[in-house]
Amino acid sequence: TKSGIVLFGIPGAGKGTYGRLLAKDLGGLKVSPGDLFRDLLRRKEESALSRRIESCVNSGKLVDDHTTFELITACLSENSSAKFLILDGVPRNLSQTTLLSQHLNLSRFILLNIELEESVLMEKLQGRRVCDHCGRNYNICAVHRDGFDMPALMPLNGSECDDCHSPISQRHDDTEPIIRKRIELYREESLPVMGVLEGLGVQRLDFAPKKGLKDYPE
Ligand code: ADP
Ligand code: ZN
Repeated sequence: TKSGIVLFGIPGAGKGTYGRLLAKDLGGLKVSPGDLFRDLLRRKEESALSRRIESCVNSGKLVDDHTTFELITACLSENSSAKFLILDGVPRNLSQTTLLSQHLNLSRFILLNIELEESVLMEKLQGRRVCDHCGRNYNICAVHRDGFDMPALMPLNGSECDDCHSPISQRHDDTEPIIRKRIELYREESLPVMGVLEGLGVQRLDFAPKKGLKDYPE
């Protein structure tokens, strides 16, 4: 049986960054639907599936559970030897919690809830830049106030990725109206998931980081 960490938190709290760090340091398998969708879209293969995913991701809506779980179960079976999972962005609503509990014994997982105040995450999400080719994250915005110490993460060379020298750009869903929409969806659909997980016997750890982390490439 598998165990692991369910990373939870409002969009922009840093699930992806902590997920990469934990996957690297603990040797776990990161399972991130957001990354799986973006990887698929980066391949630029035209299909009804990719168009459906693209319109949801770009407008800040959740992709339907069926599509999401097809990608997740494919990722799990390609990496079936992984014993320790880092779930970054799933489950995101109550029906996904039920679906996931059919694949995994969630009571063996720890819930890590990352908290970040909304004004800071608005700034950080609008400052995020992503490599068009490999997906590595940068941030042009620094936050140094109210005890926050989050430096910008600039690429070494202008606007190209340190790793693969491709251009970096803003995610379509990192604009203010779409960020507001993602936050609203998080409050309505995702927040109730924590109580359900706790009801399944999952231990919850709340964590409100104030210091920025260097982002880890995959
Ligand atoms: P964030 O947490 O900052 O919103 P993610 O990379 O986790 O960023 O998600 C980006 C987008 O991918 C979401 O807005 C949504 O469209 C889609 N997505 C991610 N996870 C899920 C999920 N579990 N179910 C459905 N859609 C998802
Ligand atoms: Zn790159």
